[in-house]
Amino acid sequence: MMFRTSGIHHVTAFVDDAQKNVDFYAGVLALRMVKKTINFDAPDVYHLYYGNEDGAPGTIITFFPQQNARRGVIGAGQTGVTVYAIPVGSLPFWKERLTSFDIPFENKTRFGEQYIRFFDKGGLLLELVERDGGQPSQWAFNGVQSEHAIKGFGGAVLFSHVPDKTTDVLTTMLGLEKVGEEDGIIRLQASGDIGQLIDIQSTGIQRGIGGAGTVHHIAWRAKDYVEHEQMQQELQKAGYHPTQVIDRQYFNAVYFREPGGILFELATDPPGFARDEPQESMGQKLMLPEWYEPQREQIEQLLPPIQVREWKGESKS
Ligand code: ZN
Repeated sequence: MMFRTSGIHHVTAFVDDAQKNVDFYAGVLALRMVKKTINFDAPDVYHLYYGNEDGAPGTIITFFPQQNARRGVIGAGQTGVTVYAIPVGSLPFWKERLTSFDIPFENKTRFGEQYIRFFDKGGLLLELVERDGGQPSQWAFNGVQSEHAIKGFGGAVLFSHVPDKTTDVLTTMLGLEKVGEEDGIIRLQASGDIGQLIDIQSTGIQRGIGGAGTVHHIAWRAKDYVEHEQMQQELQKAGYHPTQVIDRQYFNAVYFREPGGILFELATDPPGFARDEPQESMGQKLMLPEWYEPQREQIEQLLPPIQVREWKGESKS
């Protein structure tokens, strides 16, 4: 049986300031903070998750914000651009919204689609594109109603050192299909209706350096634990040196670095973010894995205070 991922599960990035990150993703992009937890390997650093109202796979971006973190360089060997899908007809709304927040954007066209490209306040490169697919978001916040709200990922642009080999692992191991090629960009498609269009670009890109303002890894969806474990074994057999299966509390994870230098993860759809708190109040309380619970007080004192807030931009707040 051939494995076919339905697309992106989540994207994880490094940034510097935590409140700036909250204001951008919850305030400007109007995503829901679906989980506030810590880096399980470094409990003085938050791990913040944003997505749609459920934190559904295909909508989740996660951050490790660390004040004074060394700045990275976006470039080859990284997921270069994270692309969000918005409802058809909502591009004018978003252009006006970004302008009102003093966020400059650039118009781009790829494979006949119109994109706007901009930097978030932490230095990550993002794009918005109108798409038909995906469920409308039910999360309305800070001036964004469901009719305009981000539905989840449209896809990503991968900056690869060796695009042919990156294409190869995505098509032969993860089941994506090549659907186009133009101006040195290869377009692949996964089987789902969200987070499914992946562009691979190699030309005109400097070498990437990890750090704040860059994506750390991109995770691909596995629908259940059985499929996930099979894939771990298949990757091992094919010589990609995957890690063992790791319990990440809200999904299981396997990591491997593909030949183009980009860190890939395979993540399971279950159990999801309502595993340890009610869906209605997800993201409000600092959630700790049970082995850290005894140290809750000390951990809370180490973390900078953050809040999801209605916000109109730096010059207007
Ligand atoms: Zn991950």
